[in-house]
Amino acid sequence: MGIVLHLSHMFLLPKDSLKIKRTKNKGYGVFARKNITAGTVISDYLGKIVSNADYDLSNDKQGLYLMYLSDYASIYPDLSKPGPHLVNHSCKPNCWIYVYESHTLFYAIEDITMGDELTISYLLSPDNGTCIACTHSCKCESINCTRTMHLTNEKYKMWQNYLNKKRKKIKKVKELYDSILPPLQLYPITLPIDPIYKKIYS
Ligand SMILES: [Zn+2]
Ligand SMILES: [Zn+2]
Repeated sequence: MGIVLHLSHMFLLPKDSLKIKRTKNKGYGVFARKNITAGTVISDYLGKIVSNADYDLSNDKQGLYLMYLSDYASIYPDLSKPGPHLVNHSCKPNCWIYVYESHTLFYAIEDITMGDELTISYLLSPDNGTCIACTHSCKCESINCTRTMHLTNEKYKMWQNYLNKKRKKIKKVKELYDSILPPLQLYPITLPIDPIYKKIYS
């Protein structure tokens, strides 16, 4: 049972490929209505460009909709429209983020079967007592569920090192706070899958 909502341009697949419906215990989720091949680009995380320094986290207690863009800026999606912000976290995600021309794309890192929920890792920094009244418990129910969306110190470091190497190759986005990040003219259809993803959740 599920409702088919009008999917916004933030999803890069044909409209009949995905469905947004309520999950048992995680609010809404994004589900495949067709098989999706590993490597397929699914969405671009678009929204308002906000300054990391000025962003008031009390707007959004969990901070989970804010997508890191650079050391200075993040993207805040339009929550009134369906978009990739509805993709839930999992400790065994079938999608991952890919920074492409300063945009954050979601893409499949394994074959996804019709009916499966699309999931991603939120890659939260380790909670070394810094996450006040942490609400980031994980309910993904995968066999290797760590019960938290926070990565361990070791895995977070692994991810940051990987990102830093990639970021050097990316030209800096011209940041215009409070403006809307426009979609790219052209999107890749598929992207390469790096083995680091498996290392982070193993
Ligand atoms: Zn937390
Ligand atoms: Zn989990």
